[in-house]
Amino acid sequence: MKDFRVGIIGATGMVGQRFATLLENHPWFHVTALAASARSAGKTYEEAIGSRWALTVPMPESMKKMPVYDAEADLDKMKELVDFVFCAVNLPKDQVKALEEMYAKAEIPVMSNNSANRGVPDVPMIVPELNPEHADVIPAQRKRLGTRRGFIAVKSNCSLQCYVPLLSPLRELYGLNKVLVCTYQAISGAGKTFERWPEMVDNLIPYIGGEEEKSEQEPMKLWGKVVDGAIVNAERPLITAQCLRVPVTDGHTAAVFASFDRKPDIEEIKKIWDSYTSIAQEAQLPSAPKKFIHYFEENDQPQIKTARDLEGGMAISAGRLRPDTQYDIKFIGMAHNTLRGAAGGAVEMAELMAVKGYLD
Ligand code: NAP
Repeated sequence: MKDFRVGIIGATGMVGQRFATLLENHPWFHVTALAASARSAGKTYEEAIGSRWALTVPMPESMKKMPVYDAEADLDKMKELVDFVFCAVNLPKDQVKALEEMYAKAEIPVMSNNSANRGVPDVPMIVPELNPEHADVIPAQRKRLGTRRGFIAVKSNCSLQCYVPLLSPLRELYGLNKVLVCTYQAISGAGKTFERWPEMVDNLIPYIGGEEEKSEQEPMKLWGKVVDGAIVNAERPLITAQCLRVPVTDGHTAAVFASFDRKPDIEEIKKIWDSYTSIAQEAQLPSAPKKFIHYFEENDQPQIKTARDLEGGMAISAGRLRPDTQYDIKFIGMAHNTLRGAAGGAVEMAELMAVKGYLD
């Protein structure tokens, strides 16, 4: 694979910091530009971050002295320096949309962590293990934007990763018709640490703005089909979700209940999960987990502390699969929200785009 020069927009944020560490020794992608808001512009990365470094792994030495650019005002500079960008910014949706389109129209492909473009039918929302074929809408998007190589691809909401990958193979086999899911989401999902959000110590907040809608609607796009250059959302299953913020640093957990057209077999489901593989594993994408789904037989697993870092934080963990009295089955799912659910998922998506030739 050829080398790609990569920019991180939102490099100073929680997800941006993850991008920086994940890309430090990446075999295909090399960070050549960092950008954030005008507040950080003109400082070195180290100065712009100040005391905001939120990870246990240190800031990459090679990036400490790199200048931080203003993502909007320094577009021309970014254009000189990068082949594509990762984007994770905290801005109102219309401003995110404008920023991402500005980069795409400047012929810089955008791998986005933001939700602003997720609902656009010709913007692929890709989990490489689940729906790699959705990249087929990129030519139609390029036509709409009037670009030759610029386009936007998005990563789905972080909470989906702890239940959608587990339901996907069952959906195809048994006909998934109804899902109830409660998610228990880590504070890093809000870009926070306990130091910056002391209210969360010994606490639970039963509301995360906008999250339940995303948890119910975004799976329908992931399970959608490409028709005439657009993704047509799936119509089933019906999903109802409640999303709670819990005092955990990293790792989202889901309690899932599901019903199917055809009654599933518990042992068969475990075999399906155990043997699940995809283009991400076959193409040996550098960020792809060797084994996507890890099922735990122990009643008290998967726990955040034992399972969130499996496969570099890119695995999906599951446990407690059993029949339910009102739905066909119930189980627990878990995934790392800033790795599999955010930066790691976006890097893996970019790797898929590179393999498919969309970053050339
Ligand atoms: P965060 O820690 O608050 O960081 C926000 C970043 O946005 C900072 O780098 C900030 O730069 C930058 N920014 C703000 N205004 C900007 C502007 N006008 N132009 C360019 N950059 C600007 O937020 P986060 O948790 O990393 O989340 C970022 C995005 O990723 C959000 O859309 C979020 O929904 C999404 N996401 C987060 C997670 C997660 O687990 N945290 C998971 C999936 C998706 P300054 O430092 O200069 O202000």
